[in-house]
Amino acid sequence: MRLRPRLRYNYIKLVVLLMSCGAGLYYYIASTANTLDKQSQIIIMERSIRSVANQGECRMPDLPLDNPEIMKFYKEVNKVDCGKPTDDWVMCEKSICFVKPEVLALHGDVNCFYTDIIRKNDFKSRYGKSLRTSEPYVLQESDFVKVFCTASDGSSWFGMAFGIRDGVEKSIKHKPIPPPLDNANPINVLDPSNDLPSYFNVLMFGFDSLSRNAFIRKLPKTYEYLTKKLGAKILTSYNIVGDGTPQALVPILTGYTELELPETRRRVSNAIAVDKAYPLIWKDYEEQGYITSFNEDIPNAGTFTYRMKGFDQQPVHHYLRTYYVEVDNILSSSSAFCAGHTPGHMIMLDYTKNFMAKYSDTPRFVFSFHGELSHDSINMIEAADDDVVAWFEDLQHKNLLDNTILIFMADHGNRFSEVRSTLQGKQEERLPFFSFTFPESFKKRFPREYQNFVENSDRLTTPFDIHATLKHILDLQKVTNNNDAFYDNEDIKTSPKQHFNIQVSDLAKNRAISLFDIIPKNRSCAEAYIEPHWCACLNWQQLNVSIETGPLLKAAGSIIATINTATENFREYCEPLQLKQINWAMRLTPHSALLAFKRNADVDGYMAEMGDNTHTSEVVYQLQIMVSPGDSLFEASVYHNLETLSMHTKLTEVSRVNKYGSQANCIYERNPELQDKKESDQSSRNRLYFIYIYCF
Ligand SMILES: [Zn+2]
Repeated sequence: MRLRPRLRYNYIKLVVLLMSCGAGLYYYIASTANTLDKQSQIIIMERSIRSVANQGECRMPDLPLDNPEIMKFYKEVNKVDCGKPTDDWVMCEKSICFVKPEVLALHGDVNCFYTDIIRKNDFKSRYGKSLRTSEPYVLQESDFVKVFCTASDGSSWFGMAFGIRDGVEKSIKHKPIPPPLDNANPINVLDPSNDLPSYFNVLMFGFDSLSRNAFIRKLPKTYEYLTKKLGAKILTSYNIVGDGTPQALVPILTGYTELELPETRRRVSNAIAVDKAYPLIWKDYEEQGYITSFNEDIPNAGTFTYRMKGFDQQPVHHYLRTYYVEVDNILSSSSAFCAGHTPGHMIMLDYTKNFMAKYSDTPRFVFSFHGELSHDSINMIEAADDDVVAWFEDLQHKNLLDNTILIFMADHGNRFSEVRSTLQGKQEERLPFFSFTFPESFKKRFPREYQNFVENSDRLTTPFDIHATLKHILDLQKVTNNNDAFYDNEDIKTSPKQHFNIQVSDLAKNRAISLFDIIPKNRSCAEAYIEPHWCACLNWQQLNVSIETGPLLKAAGSIIATINTATENFREYCEPLQLKQINWAMRLTPHSALLAFKRNADVDGYMAEMGDNTHTSEVVYQLQIMVSPGDSLFEASVYHNLETLSMHTKLTEVSRVNKYGSQANCIYERNPELQDKKESDQSSRNRLYFIYIYCF
């Protein structure tokens, strides 16, 4: 059987998807044969979450961007080529669709038939009446149209177009939104001169399967723009809580795990549609007067439709799925990564931008999640780098990021088996890219919350926290003048939901913390509700100094060599240091469960299959040593490369833990200008010398 290019491509994608998700027939049969009921699965899961190995402050591994073990999988790719801009004749801005001027210039007068594509359900559409016109066409029944055009030069074109239809806003019950309020300075309340907005839009845009490191490697321009131009804050310890897209997005969008939520799996007989079963965050936004949009491509692998039943009613006001479903029918001969002559990722970027532009005076919540480029390839996402930057520039230029919280994110890291077979690959999979960019108006209106967010950005966080944060954004806007208890903390916590018949355990109740509150620095994976095999944090393992003498003496030697090298320039005044004793030592290692995790044991990604033997290439030691002369105590981390067997200490990671008193006076007196210096790099580096030095 010969498949048309796009169908063939989709077929290959589906096969790869099935394989990459570990969801082969064998596992399907094996898992359905011994399916445990969801409650028992939760009990097993929570037992491992509570385990001793999962306790203790999270210390994230140092994952170098240029690790050759990972870099060997990366290669450059070309941009997606779908043809010339004039190959597609019609485009829409907001609700107006028209023949592109450059097409008119090329072909003369153009007449088009426009036919609305109307959603029936998540899998089927119907066509509305066709209208023939040479004038612009206004979208009213649907955001999507099928178009056939003929030109006076005899040529013709057939394709699809998308925009944001008119008339949706009228259907919305707007709730009154309270006036601006500056919670740090209540005197400013109601002060019209402060000109702060009464609501903030949420623009969440994500890519499938991009770890934080992969994002920086493959989208360097996007990363640069986000961090340098937009001032994005990156969540550097954001850790997944399960395998695959639904396990990442369901907790973000509902605050619950799939196991806790009512049954929505298609193959289970009493399952119900997702909109009836899940308390989705966009509904909370809709209730507070927001216009909403949720967009996903790859319709045959949608988060809520691949295993789940999908939505009965259209879940949001503007829903791009209907377009993508119809692309597979109408434009099935498109080349890979294209719909007609437009790259698939451009469709999502443009639709999202159009949505932001259409409702410039109304609160907006949009979540667009693109999978086609990155789901099956570690490299293809690079093709979108320039386009995303241009999109940011355009959004900024049109003031569409004003009063908008931009969340640029991914669900999990790369899941390709070759990458995952390396330790760093496994760790990166657990640490997806996640960033928030706040507009200046938010920082002014909620300075305390913003400050907390900044503090939290390197602390252990999860999808549950993102959900709490999205709720908190709404709650902050409900502020009244009487404002100490200015939001309902209980509302943000994970709690049972009667309407949806959702029960949660006591352990689950405290798992979510809004990023605008304070996340404890010493938060453990157990506290954050992360199972040990998903937890990327490293474990400190206490070592017996008298038994593990060999590696520990070498590690202590590395610390002392580092210090002695740093004091070399002062050798005429100060003594080289020597090891007197090792007081204690610990080894930092990945969770044994992480090393042993192989893949999902079931088709739904609920349970894990263990038995892998992941190779570790680096071990980190932490030691406290006493040196002579002077009996100084130092603590330091030492990195042991298991391939080269070398040990390495960073000078900045050596701390003196007892008083150095007058031991360094010979240097201190020779550098009096250092005494008054405030925190500059140079002076703090010089100050470091004092803790190392023992004068002759
Ligand atoms: Zn995914």
